[in-house]
Amino acid sequence: MNFTKFPRRKYLQGSTPVESMPALSKVLGTDVNLYVKRDDLLPGSAGGNKTRKLEFCIADALEKGADTIITCGAVQSNHARLTASWSAKEGLECHLLLEERVKGSYKKKASGNNFLFELLGVKSIEVVKGGSDMMAQMEKKADDLTAAGKTPYIIPGGASNPIGATGYAVCAEETMNQLNEMRLDIDHIIVPSGSAGTHAGMVAGMTGVSGNIPISGVNVSRPKEEQEEIVYKLAEETAQRLEVKMGINREDIVCFDQYVGPGYSLPTDSMVEAVKLFAGTEAILLDPVYSGKAAAGLIDLVRKGHFPKGSNVLFLHTGGSPALYAYMDTFRLDINEH
Ligand SMILES: *Cc1c(COP(=O)(O)O)cnc(C)c1O
Repeated sequence: MNFTKFPRRKYLQGSTPVESMPALSKVLGTDVNLYVKRDDLLPGSAGGNKTRKLEFCIADALEKGADTIITCGAVQSNHARLTASWSAKEGLECHLLLEERVKGSYKKKASGNNFLFELLGVKSIEVVKGGSDMMAQMEKKADDLTAAGKTPYIIPGGASNPIGATGYAVCAEETMNQLNEMRLDIDHIIVPSGSAGTHAGMVAGMTGVSGNIPISGVNVSRPKEEQEEIVYKLAEETAQRLEVKMGINREDIVCFDQYVGPGYSLPTDSMVEAVKLFAGTEAILLDPVYSGKAAAGLIDLVRKGHFPKGSNVLFLHTGGSPALYAYMDTFRLDINEH
């Protein structure tokens, strides 16, 4: 794959680590060897997957002469935090539209990412009702800013368009190079699947390098069929952008939706268990909304014997740990019971 013809800022030097998780593998007591790709350690305040996407999205904004970034996300959005982070670093104004997907969940004084939005100097935060047309809201904001003499650029939710997903095609290639270097034969990759740019970019990139490692997504909100269609469409568009000739096989897009629980961002027992297991065995911090639920999926699939004995399974850790501090009671309550 040739990434040189796209505008790109280099926010990452070298690669994020691929690490073995022997203690976690042992605790699960099966014959499956777990590994982790540490995208939680990406640069950008407190790390996480959006940095890879923003390398391309912010570069596109700068090329188009923008001086202002508008984006959207949920009330504890990691994407909003990292967009604010890289905007600050690039000297761009940043405006956020936050969707209150769970009624009453926005608290101006909340900790976690919400606290960091302010610290990173965002120019405005507007909270809108769950289910709003976020693109329409951002366009309205862009019109207002244009009228005020600014040159705004809209980054869609999660930076999940073909421009942002290109960052995860880069990650797929980077991962294959590392695995070849380590002579580590991975049988399966598990990724969180939300606004879909991560999952779609990984599949497009894996197809582009003919890595042939199956990639499964663990959903954080939508039902399986719906999410698979979204991932497939974006993977196709990304593959076209990258001129990946073979295109995407529909069968290569697989999502699990049984770990969502009552809904997006709402805690589940298996998420709490996963966060505690990763912290207690490998000293790796997950988050309650994405990587915690994806890890709950990984753990359940391992326990159920979904992966054949002796398999090597790689978990893509997409970050998000600042959100833990907005959910402390969820974890504390559980501790008090012991
Ligand atoms: C956004 C996010 C995801 C999901 O990635 P998508 O590309 O939106 O599917 C996973 N984990 C964390 C921590 C995130 O912030």
